[in-house]
Amino acid sequence: MTQQPKTTVFEYMSGLARELGAINLGQGFPEMEEPPELIAAAQRALAQRSNQYPPMRGLPDLRAAIRGYYARTQGLDLADESVVVTSGGTEALAASLFALVRPGDEVVLVQPLYDAYLPLVEWAGGTARFVSLTPPDWTFPLDALAAAIGPRTRGIVLNTPNNPVGTMLDRATLEAIGALCETHDLWVLCDEVWEGMVFDGTPHVSPLAIPALAGRSVKVGSAGKIFSMTGWKVGWAVAAPELAAQIAARHQFLTFTTATPLQWAVAEAFALPAAWHRDHRARYAKAKARLVAGLEAAGFAVLPASGTWFVTIDLAASGLPADDLAVSERLVREAGVASIPVSAFYAEAPERGYLRLCFTKPDAVLDEAIARLARFR
Ligand code: GLN
Repeated sequence: MTQQPKTTVFEYMSGLARELGAINLGQGFPEMEEPPELIAAAQRALAQRSNQYPPMRGLPDLRAAIRGYYARTQGLDLADESVVVTSGGTEALAASLFALVRPGDEVVLVQPLYDAYLPLVEWAGGTARFVSLTPPDWTFPLDALAAAIGPRTRGIVLNTPNNPVGTMLDRATLEAIGALCETHDLWVLCDEVWEGMVFDGTPHVSPLAIPALAGRSVKVGSAGKIFSMTGWKVGWAVAAPELAAQIAARHQFLTFTTATPLQWAVAEAFALPAAWHRDHRARYAKAKARLVAGLEAAGFAVLPASGTWFVTIDLAASGLPADDLAVSERLVREAGVASIPVSAFYAEAPERGYLRLCFTKPDAVLDEAIARLARFR
């Protein structure tokens, strides 16, 4: 029943890019200047703080910093016992699903979906039902969600902003989901790791901000995404204290704790002013605008996206075959540009007409990628 774990599409594409010397716009990681403030904070923490086990749920300073950040940016009023620091967002997803899912439970997953959700649900003994966002606007399928809820359904996994397509859930949609969850007594696990990387001013709304959902939801966040340090693997799960205790109980047997000096560094990073985040985002917004403008000038149809480090190309609207697997293989082998086929984010009934490109790269890399893609067309 459980899926055979296979190499992720991100590893696969990065491997091909290395082997072929292609420009890697596949796996999402920044090759921008890394924030020097954070590197200095980590160096200080290594030399002057502790290199031994921190408290299992995370350093009190970091938990307080996370609560402060969410109070400032999302108006959330969180108890200290609601935060569990984990080794990256992926571990937060794992600890949460192991806490929430019992053997035989059904969980609704929304496609396109991040690749970790399904194996984690299955490893917890659950079964997945799928609903899909509707392209090309990727609207949320509320009717399909209601129809997918059956007697064994216990929860829903959401992702906003969405990886790979960059769209976000608005308050009205979350309220409608909240009403369904109250009627059927469901939990929500919401992957919000891209919450700090929104470029068009769309407000980020967490299920924790929706009264019907606050007590039954887990929010997953990531310092790797907020501060562009993906290799640090500092993430967290936030939930009502009783639920957070359940998650912490799983976390203690997954990784137990998360690198102490990096926790200190992230705690310090959260003290950076709002202007720092604005400037940081502005650099990324510029890179995004550069890639989008270059692709559009070359005749590619780029879909609008509010957040994440990605944009997607509509292949058919770009005059290419709507076969993302074939096009991405050809792009990496013939054009020398690695991308991610959006169909890799589906477990059933995949959309084959879209390709994801990561824009968090230096101008020269983006320009060369655009030139190669333009020649390919
Ligand atoms: N989150 C990254 C992406 O979407 C990939 C992380 C990974 O490689 N597992 O590209």
